[in-house]
Amino acid sequence: MSKPESTPLDRRDFLKTAGGAAAALAAGSSLAGLDAVAAQPPAVDASGAPDKLRIDIHGHIYPEKYLDMLDSMGGGGTGTHIARIAKGSGNPDELEARFQMMDRAGVKIQVLSPAPQLPYFEKKELAVKACRFINDAYAEHVRRHPDRFVAYVTTPLPHVDAALEEMARGLDTLGMVGVTMGTSVLTRSVADPMFDPFWEEMNRRGTILFFHPHGLGACSSLVQQYDLTWPIGAEVEDTMVVGHLLAKQIPKRYPRVRIIVPHLGGDISLLMNRINNQKMLFLPADAEKPSVTVKRLWYDTVSHAYAPALRVACEALGYDRFLLGSDYPYETGEIFQQCVDYVKDPGVGLTPDQAEAILDRNAQALFRLVPKAPAAK
Ligand SMILES: [Zn+2]
Repeated sequence: MSKPESTPLDRRDFLKTAGGAAAALAAGSSLAGLDAVAAQPPAVDASGAPDKLRIDIHGHIYPEKYLDMLDSMGGGGTGTHIARIAKGSGNPDELEARFQMMDRAGVKIQVLSPAPQLPYFEKKELAVKACRFINDAYAEHVRRHPDRFVAYVTTPLPHVDAALEEMARGLDTLGMVGVTMGTSVLTRSVADPMFDPFWEEMNRRGTILFFHPHGLGACSSLVQQYDLTWPIGAEVEDTMVVGHLLAKQIPKRYPRVRIIVPHLGGDISLLMNRINNQKMLFLPADAEKPSVTVKRLWYDTVSHAYAPALRVACEALGYDRFLLGSDYPYETGEIFQQCVDYVKDPGVGLTPDQAEAILDRNAQALFRLVPKAPAAK
């Protein structure tokens, strides 16, 4: 409340974000002894940022003009069908219903990403045009509702030079709080060496990076031809991106990037023993155990409120790595409420303090958001 600017986080706030997360980690995280934390910047003053704030770190708005633009360009990636079904256009009626749902669930702020409708096109001019459009649209939503929204910056990958420019515009000028990226860039791995400069810049900045399935059915016709792109393919993509981060040792090489993988990290929590035991098949002999590396990442709670899955994920990855997510508008109404309530479900097996950490503290330790007053009408 102490900062009157119209954007929710300015450059100074962004730096506070990085420092606050480092402080929180150093103070209490199970990772406090790991190299990744030692490489993070020193704590700085984060006055005005409360320790508890219920942040939904996984929300979407799909402006119709943006979807029309993507279609006019050939669709890009997964196309626009899934977003049009979801009905999260950001028009006034939709936003009113959204804010009521957030209020009922105690969610103060939602972090927005346009994924999976990412503006990834082989033609650079198309990617840049669509990317600037959606970032400007999101900045406007944040400007109009500074008390309810912040946003991740979207970039026009695979064009790394343009992506670096847009990252700077989003973070430094538009006040965005992190970067969003597909679990692949069209069919390229996020760990492809061509993206090294992109990782280097995120590492230099210490930014938050929110991954999201690209909706390509894990690039497999065995998924796509059976209409399983979203019921199963998305989870495969989440799992796969963690695998690629492990295989190319991204968390070790870029330790200051705070990586969030959605949907409980896909199926990765089920695979820890298998991946550890087969480490020699995809990692150098001196690489740390994958079960250690995965605890350098963060995950959101989106699982369609399936308590057994969250239980296993928290046991394998650590409850302190989990952040509340809704996947709005894919999970609305009663399901939105369940997304929040199920964290406290006895079937998950968390203590009240652990559940509160997931709902109200872990994300705030990472983002260090300073709540804003509503914009003047
Ligand atoms: Zn989503």
